[in-house]
Amino acid sequence: MNIHEYQAKAMLAEFGVPVPRGKLALSVAEAVTAAESLNGSVWVVKAQIHAGGRGKAGGVRICKSIGEVKAAATDLLGSVLVTKQTGEAGKQVNRLYIEEGLNIAREFYLSLLVDRETERVAFVASPAGGMDIEEVAASSPEKILTLSIAGDEVSENEAQKIAAFLGLEGEQEKACADLLEKLYRAFTEKDGSMLELNPLILTGGGKLMALDAKFVADSNALYRHAEIVGLRDLSEEDPREIEASQFGLNYIALDGHIGCMVNGAGLAMATMDIIQLKGDRPANFLDVGGGVTVDAVCEAFKLLFSDDHVKAVLVNIFGGIVRCDIIAGGLLEAIKTHPMRVPVVMRLVGTNEEEGRRMVKDARLDVRWANDLDQAAELAVAAAREVA
Ligand code: ADP
Ligand code: MG
Repeated sequence: MNIHEYQAKAMLAEFGVPVPRGKLALSVAEAVTAAESLNGSVWVVKAQIHAGGRGKAGGVRICKSIGEVKAAATDLLGSVLVTKQTGEAGKQVNRLYIEEGLNIAREFYLSLLVDRETERVAFVASPAGGMDIEEVAASSPEKILTLSIAGDEVSENEAQKIAAFLGLEGEQEKACADLLEKLYRAFTEKDGSMLELNPLILTGGGKLMALDAKFVADSNALYRHAEIVGLRDLSEEDPREIEASQFGLNYIALDGHIGCMVNGAGLAMATMDIIQLKGDRPANFLDVGGGVTVDAVCEAFKLLFSDDHVKAVLVNIFGGIVRCDIIAGGLLEAIKTHPMRVPVVMRLVGTNEEEGRRMVKDARLDVRWANDLDQAAELAVAAAREVA
């Protein structure tokens, strides 16, 4: 689960990580009041969306007067920001963070993530911060250090390695060690799956500060972090995914043409692969899970039928715990309100397979039947082409 930059900074501040002074603003008037209360001579108006790359897209405005803050806030609030990370549709800006403008001497990259290979928390550090880290990794990998933390805290030796890699010495090396320790604690205590400061800066006055902060919470640990769940901003999430999660469906929206309904995550991935192999792309990942009900299947079909991108639906059910008649029942329920506006290809095998097929046939639905996954994918891709 993602949270906003301002929320991540507030969380880090609780652990003693130095962050710029700033205030949240939901309106132009609030932005002006916030800037006035931060008394200084430079302010930064930052669009709060769950995506990076805001600076290059005009979502981070440096302002030299309250008048400029007002103009930037007016311009940004309600606007749609398209960044490298938002996709073409962009994201609407509903919240602004008004921050003191800092004098930046150097920009670093620093992040923490779970390193599956070492089964440890790893720091990724680079003296080339503030830019696209993927680009740095591709063009000059020697500028990136990845270091897994061996014990329960950052050792002196580990901190020294990171500080030296960033070119920090003396007092700044000490400040860096202190910062790493606090970040490590924040990351582990809050059950993060990713924490990224890009950039971490050295101010003109020689202080280290988190200028940008992205925190991703491990969704599997949210049950013990009500405080993080409370930060969820549903307006940042895909409404279809929210809807699906309410029915216990594992649904992720994608940008292809074939709507998929599958049971089991592995089979769902195999289905997506074979669709690509046959020359099209899936419109979604959808695992209906094992203990699925007619209601949830109905909801899943409604999601697929109401998605304009979907040109054909591929149902691939290998019934074990899931019963084929439940899948058929869900389809019959869904079409009462959401007519089948695109071809549906069904591969139904396993538990109650005959009954499932009979239910669909009795309802005289125009479903194309497939005997195996290969054939199902071929039929679905061909059907999507007819429609397109
Ligand atoms: P994004 O990563 O989405 O582009 P950042 O928060 O990293 O957004 O901001 C982009 C750039 O804007 C930073 O690299 C920095 O140069 C500048 N910037 C951001 N916040 C401040 C600030 N408080 N003071 C001065 N410059 C800032
Ligand atoms: Mg950034």
